[in-house]
Amino acid sequence: MSGRHFLQIPGPTNVPERILRAMDRSVIDHRGGELPPLVFEIVTGLRRIFQTRAGAIALFPASGTGATEAAVVNTLQPGERVLAFNNGAFSHGFAEVARRHGMVVDEVDLPWDRGVPPDLVADALRADAGHTYRAVLVVHNETSTGATTDLAGIRRALDAAQHPAMLLVDAVSSLASLEFRFDEWGVDVALAGSQKGLMLPPGLGILCIGPRALRRSEEVTTPRAFFDWRPVLREMERGYFPYTPATLLLYGLREALRMLEEEGLPQVIARQRRLADAVRAGVRAWGLPLQCREPAEYSHTLTAVVVPEGTDSDAVRRAAEAHFNLSLGAGLGRLAGRVFRIGHLGALNDLEVLATLAGTELAMTVAGIRIPVGGGVAAAQEVLLERYRTPAGR
Ligand code: PLP
Repeated sequence: MSGRHFLQIPGPTNVPERILRAMDRSVIDHRGGELPPLVFEIVTGLRRIFQTRAGAIALFPASGTGATEAAVVNTLQPGERVLAFNNGAFSHGFAEVARRHGMVVDEVDLPWDRGVPPDLVADALRADAGHTYRAVLVVHNETSTGATTDLAGIRRALDAAQHPAMLLVDAVSSLASLEFRFDEWGVDVALAGSQKGLMLPPGLGILCIGPRALRRSEEVTTPRAFFDWRPVLREMERGYFPYTPATLLLYGLREALRMLEEEGLPQVIARQRRLADAVRAGVRAWGLPLQCREPAEYSHTLTAVVVPEGTDSDAVRRAAEAHFNLSLGAGLGRLAGRVFRIGHLGALNDLEVLATLAGTELAMTVAGIRIPVGGGVAAAQEVLLERYRTPAGR
C-alpha cells in the first residue's frame, strides 16, 4: 500500500524520523568512553520527565513487563501482602506478577470503566490496622480501558490512613504524556517502557526508584538475578551497565528526551490533552460510548470505543488494516470484540488525529457499523480550531 502506515495503537507509537536517524549508526563499545556521557544525559532527562530529584533511574533491555518484574522482586518478599486493583487487563497483570513471585495479593475487583477510586484505597488501608500491606500497586493509565487513576488522590489516601505501604506505579502508558509527579506524589517505584510516550521502539524497561524502595531492595531476599536493580544502579552511577545494553536504543532515548525538552513537558502534556479532546469529540459524534465512564478520568493517551451490541470491534480493526493501512488497538481480556482502542500518544499532530478518525470512520462503515461518515472528523476539527478562534471572531 502506498503512503505511510498509521500506527494508532496505544503503543508502540510512531517513531519520529529524528529518533530513527539518531539510532541509525554503528554499534558502539559499551565499555568504552562514549557510553558515560550518553547515560548521564539520559538519567538527567528521565529525572525531569518523572519530575523527581531523589529518584534513581534504572534501565533494563526489556519491555514494560520486565520493569514490572523488577519493581516487584526488588521491593517485596514472598509471603508479604500487597493491595492491588483489577480495573483493567494491565492492573490485573501487575497483580499477577506479584502473585507469581509468591506475594499474597489482595486484588480488589473493580468495574473496567474507571480508575481506582482513592476512597476505596483509603478504606482498605484503614481496615489494615496492623499495617500488613507492604505495597499498593496501581496502574496510572489503564491502557486496556482508557481510564486514568488520580495518583495525587491515592497518595492522599495513603497519608490519610497513615499507612506505611509503598506505592508502586505502572506508568507505562502515561510517562512523558500525562502529568507524572514522582516526588510530589510520594511514589516509591514508577515503571515504564520505551515504546509509548517516549516515542521509541519497544525494548527498554525504565524504572524510577525512590529512597524507601532503594533501602528495601537491600533488605529483601527475593531471588533475583537479571532484574536485581542494585548492580544496575551501581554501574549506571559510572555510566555503564552490568549487562550488554541496547546501545542504539540509548541513542534514540537521548534524542527523544531532547525532543521532549525542546517542546517542553507542559506543552507535550497540553498537546496530548488537546488531541485527546478532539478524538473524544469525534467518538461522541459517532454516537458510540467510551469504555471509560468517568469524564474526570478520561485518558489523554488513548480512547477505548465501545462498538454497538451485535457488532465486532475486531472487524473494525481488520477493515482498518486491510483497506486503510491503519492499525487500531484490540479489545483486551474481557473487552475482546467489544472495544477498539485509538492510540493518540507520542509523536502526533492535529492532521494525524484527523486522518486516524477519518480512517476509523471508513473502517467502521466497511465493518457494517452505522455512523455518520465525516461527523467525527468535523467534530474533532471544531475542537482543534478552538485555540485559533478569538472570542470576537466567533
Ligand atoms: N502496563 C501497561 C499500562 C501497558 O500498557 C503495558 C503494555 O501495553 C504493559 C504494562 C506491559 O508492557 P510491555 O507490553 O511493554 O511488556
